[in-house]
Amino acid sequence: SKNLVPTQSIPGMISVRGAREHNLKNIAVELPRDRLVVFTGVSGSGKSSLAFGTLYAEAQRRYLDSVSPYARRLFNQMPVPAVESIEGLPPAVALQQQKSVGSGRSSVGSLTTLSNLVRMLYSRAGTYPKGMERLEAESFSPNTPMGACSTCHGMGYLYDITETTLVPDSSLSIRQRAVAAWPTAWQGQNLRDILITRGVDVDRPWRDLPQSVRDWILYTDETPTEPVYPGLTHAEVLDAIKQGVPPAYNGTFTGARQYVRQTFAKSQSAKMRARAASFMLATPCPACHGQKLNPEALRVTFAGKNIAQLSALPLKAISEVLEGIRPSLNGPDATTVAAKGIVDSLIERISTLLDLGLGYLQLNRGIQTLSPGEYQRLRLGTQIRSNLFGVAYVLDEPSAGLHPVDTQALLQALKRLLQAGNSLLVVEHNIDIIQQADWLVDVGPGAGVHGGQVLYSGQPEGLRHVKASRTRHYIFETQKLVSGPRRTPTAWLGVEDICWHNIQAQSLTLPLGVMVAVTGVSGSGKSSLVSQALVSLIGRALGQLPEQDMEDTQEQAIEAQTGLPTGRVCTGLQHIKRLVVIDQKPIGRTPRSNLATYTGLFDLIRQRFAATPTAKANKLDAGWFSFNVAKGRCPHCEGVGSVMVELLFLPSVYAPCPTCKGTRYKPEVLAVTLNGKTIADVLSMSVEEACQFFAQEPALAHGFQTVKEAGLGYLGLGQPATEFSGGEAQRLKLATELQKRRAGHTLYIMDEPTTGLHPSDVDRLFGQLQTLVVQGHTVIVAEHDMRVAAASDWIIDMGPGAGENGGHIVVSGLPETVAACKTSRTAPFLARYL
Ligand code: ADP
Ligand code: ADP
Ligand code: ZN
Ligand code: ZN
Repeated sequence: SKNLVPTQSIPGMISVRGAREHNLKNIAVELPRDRLVVFTGVSGSGKSSLAFGTLYAEAQRRYLDSVSPYARRLFNQMPVPAVESIEGLPPAVALQQQKSVGSGRSSVGSLTTLSNLVRMLYSRAGTYPKGMERLEAESFSPNTPMGACSTCHGMGYLYDITETTLVPDSSLSIRQRAVAAWPTAWQGQNLRDILITRGVDVDRPWRDLPQSVRDWILYTDETPTEPVYPGLTHAEVLDAIKQGVPPAYNGTFTGARQYVRQTFAKSQSAKMRARAASFMLATPCPACHGQKLNPEALRVTFAGKNIAQLSALPLKAISEVLEGIRPSLNGPDATTVAAKGIVDSLIERISTLLDLGLGYLQLNRGIQTLSPGEYQRLRLGTQIRSNLFGVAYVLDEPSAGLHPVDTQALLQALKRLLQAGNSLLVVEHNIDIIQQADWLVDVGPGAGVHGGQVLYSGQPEGLRHVKASRTRHYIFETQKLVSGPRRTPTAWLGVEDICWHNIQAQSLTLPLGVMVAVTGVSGSGKSSLVSQALVSLIGRALGQLPEQDMEDTQEQAIEAQTGLPTGRVCTGLQHIKRLVVIDQKPIGRTPRSNLATYTGLFDLIRQRFAATPTAKANKLDAGWFSFNVAKGRCPHCEGVGSVMVELLFLPSVYAPCPTCKGTRYKPEVLAVTLNGKTIADVLSMSVEEACQFFAQEPALAHGFQTVKEAGLGYLGLGQPATEFSGGEAQRLKLATELQKRRAGHTLYIMDEPTTGLHPSDVDRLFGQLQTLVVQGHTVIVAEHDMRVAAASDWIIDMGPGAGENGGHIVVSGLPETVAACKTSRTAPFLARYL
């Protein structure tokens, strides 16, 4: 529209021309600096492509350009945003919700650098026992040789590997897998066959083998290589060797303890490491009692607590301890002056995090256990203290994971960044935040090819009259979710004595056959209850490992030594057939996994290609059309279509394969076409295009239609799953699940499924969840969106507060019952949508 393209750049404005990144349609837009600019629009409309893919990427490119020619050279290999010009662009800092925070020992304390300050406090201003020398700040860190407890090397635990942990059931023989710690499948058989060659009786119960033999199998550090004759007895092996029969191969033996240690220390696979950990017995270190530090450091106190005790408190409690001691810090001596300075600084920095609703976190909480929303707010809180100005902060849905109560605090934090002289570019769906924007950019109207245009850019009020906008109704009117008549529970599931994180001995009666929303302020215990305790307890009661990988959670639990949730399912289990968790975890960690393979629809597509006359004439079966099998895939990139380019100092990037030009296949496979398209062409279609292309194929058409209805019509079939956001991955899992049409009552568990969704997409998602309930299943969602909660059949409200002040079920019942509850902090917000 006409007012979007001014002829000259305006001072104080960022002006973008000719932006064509991803689906953006050569757009021009002007944004004010030093203001809260919010990008709205349906999922896939192009908000991120504009905010992150264009504005942030360009700012980043310019920054690196200014750094050094060397950096520039590296950066040349990375995509440059498709945009004609951007004027008035300040340097930018992105605070995205992390897709993966990597591994490592990073904690809340290290990420915020608060731990450094606390160590300095103990070093300079701690109370030392008489005659003890002052310690350096590093001596208070378990990650330094000076600080670490010398017994456990700063781990806090000692790990013991014993015969009982390695061989849980000694009545089994080796052939019956007595050595449970050994690898399964082929590698396990290999170890067994080596023992046969060495003359060990693998068919005798483990406990009847001589102790010396048992010890050798479990504890030896030798790795002998032996000839292996699979399927032969020891006598037959000896015979074969005598007659000079060559073995099938030579196998190398590894003792069980060594195998467990190596896997735990070195395996890249979280699953494997979790499995290894389950064969180790962890006991708190007797020297430091799990406090990880050497005795010297632990003798130093501040406000009566040693550093380990202080760091184990939630931030809110640390702040209270410091506030309590502050009035007494008024002496003139150097120690008191130092103490006062550090205490003031800590109080101020923690207060920012309290404002952001993070007061329930502890300094020693591992970063990998935080939700993406918590992580982003933690970084935001750290930035507020950084005293940067003139910077554009680009944020991705900062309200994710926030209860409406906490949203006001978030807005305050954002305003502090503005007041310091910065610009804010925020992609957001939350109505409360959109309503506070100084400037709105509504992108759309639809997703993918149907989006990519700027429908409106200006002060919020002006959006009211933009007909094409799918956002305006939600901002200017109260839009309730359309839901059918409320359903009554068909049965009840009783769970008793749940203990996990801040939940202590809580019991719960869960209605079945309905849609249940679990609400509560951030940190009240929703995820701990729904995604962790219920998943673990019900999964174990059903004798079923949840379909999504519980291993990650288990590994975290083992690493944090917190064990697993406890409690028991006491009634109603017979009504549930299975548990399915639909979470936001990535669905693939390599570019090999994509939408087509994940949904299983690629198998059908390959069969169609194999059935064409050309394929038949050339004897190309369905296997030839797989990029995971050697037959038809490009030998250079092995069917990935891209090759990894390692960059010094920067994350490695993927570049198109030079042999197949990114098509993944050999030329003879690409010679086969189906209705004029090659298999590579099909992989580059969007779901939307696939719906049309396969319109005449009922199974495929239905499959792609379901994915499209999950709001994912804009995704490409071959787009690597590594590029999906958490929300996209979750919706794809849901769509795949909807195609299965499960027989028997299934309990579905989802954590904040509306994350990343425009209100109009939420309407559609809600419809899909209702479909599951209509089919007789139960759906439980932990949710902040009050429209969803109000339209649910039942609400469980957790709280009343966060952390130690939460963990209870405040009220449980119909939405009206919860809205009327005086002690519920959710009630007033819920009432708006009833
Ligand atoms: P939004 O932020 O509004 O949800 P996006 O900007 O993420 O939308 O996506 C807009 C379009 O660009 C979609 O069609 C999406 O599939 C596409 N897209 C996003 N990221 C990539 C990428 N890395 N490569 C190719 N296409 C992408
Ligand atoms: P919500 O989902 O309602 O935001 P959570 O279940 O994430 O709340 O958190 C409830 C409490 O449990 C908080 O005090 C939080 O710090 C704690 N908690 C959550 N996850 C972990 C973890 N992995 N390790 C230690 N404490 C945790
Ligand atoms: Zn120790
Ligand atoms: Zn290739």
